Amino acid sequence: MFLLKKSIPFLMLLLIVSCSKEEGAKTTTIIPEKKVEPIQPENTGPTIQDQVFTLSENPTIGTSIGTVLASDQEADPLTFTIDSEQYLTINATSGELQVSQDTTLFDFETVQELEFEITVSDAEFENSAIITLNLEDEEDGPLTNYQKEVIYQFKYMLLYYESQNPEAYYESIYKREGGLQLFLDGNVTDEFEQNVAATLETYNALFTDGMEITIVSTLEEANVHVYHGPVEAIKDLWPFHYDYIVSNGFDGYAAGYQLDNGDYKNTLWVNATNTVLFSHELGHLLALSHSDLCYEPKRSMMCASSLPAEPLPLDYDILRYLYHPDVYLGMPATDIDEVLTNIMLNLPSSKTQKVFKTKHEGNYMKNLMTY
Ligand SMILES: [Zn+2]
Repeated sequence: MFLLKKSIPFLMLLLIVSCSKEEGAKTTTIIPEKKVEPIQPENTGPTIQDQVFTLSENPTIGTSIGTVLASDQEADPLTFTIDSEQYLTINATSGELQVSQDTTLFDFETVQELEFEITVSDAEFENSAIITLNLEDEEDGPLTNYQKEVIYQFKYMLLYYESQNPEAYYESIYKREGGLQLFLDGNVTDEFEQNVAATLETYNALFTDGMEITIVSTLEEANVHVYHGPVEAIKDLWPFHYDYIVSNGFDGYAAGYQLDNGDYKNTLWVNATNTVLFSHELGHLLALSHSDLCYEPKRSMMCASSLPAEPLPLDYDILRYLYHPDVYLGMPATDIDEVLTNIMLNLPSSKTQKVFKTKHEGNYMKNLMTY
């Protein structure tokens, strides 16, 4: 191979010379053989550029991903190698990439993008490039991708991921117990009252752990003081919230706090007869923080700004799972995946069963069903 490569330019030169000769008298130039011999082109290294491939998640061993492209000015035979034989193999001569023996890495739910280094050699020189492998999501059960998204958002909203500070993440579930009793105050128009009633009806239908939200007729009976009206009204009503609301330009604000006598009280203020705004603030009182599902066309009702026209099915599902008997106050965050998966697949919760087994001996199944 090495000899062939060097002989080509030499042969071409001889051909050019001989053609010129045949054309006739004008051509007199003859390149002396002594000058031809030293013209041996220097070998240049092969060229390879960063490349991107896509691969559906959970591939089988041997799945072909594509062929890495490289070139060489002298058309030398090229040899490809990869830095991660465990996950990918590359055909040394063709550059075809295949899934290797360990397929565990190719799980979209774990990683969406992988990078490998490919080196290409012409026996004398070598060059490297980065191969990016984008994984594509597949329905790979037992949960659907939608259900996985619900679990992700459940964690995001319940563990307060919005802080983007791992130190601040909650380590266990907080949820309300004992029901919420709302007293509607301020500009209580028929429209506002109807919107509130519609939200409560929707929410209450989601709860299966005994949680219920009701409207009561006096402030004394209530544990949530709802106020509908302009922000100026808050200045006198809840002066301790007013500055914070004004400085942030909020349209609604919900807060829970403890009174001197130990009772918990909650305030919920909205400045508009907007069902989603009310649903958002009530979501806060039901222990949801903000969502990061805030891009078109999917915007959660728990987005911190630019609320959607109505809640997503996902918003309702998060409340449905949070106020499910298998999800309890103080449940460790590490149990969320297993417990929610079991609920979604209609499987009995191992966590709950364990509790009932010790408390109620052999009778736990009956209690589980009436819990
Ligand atoms: Zn909010």
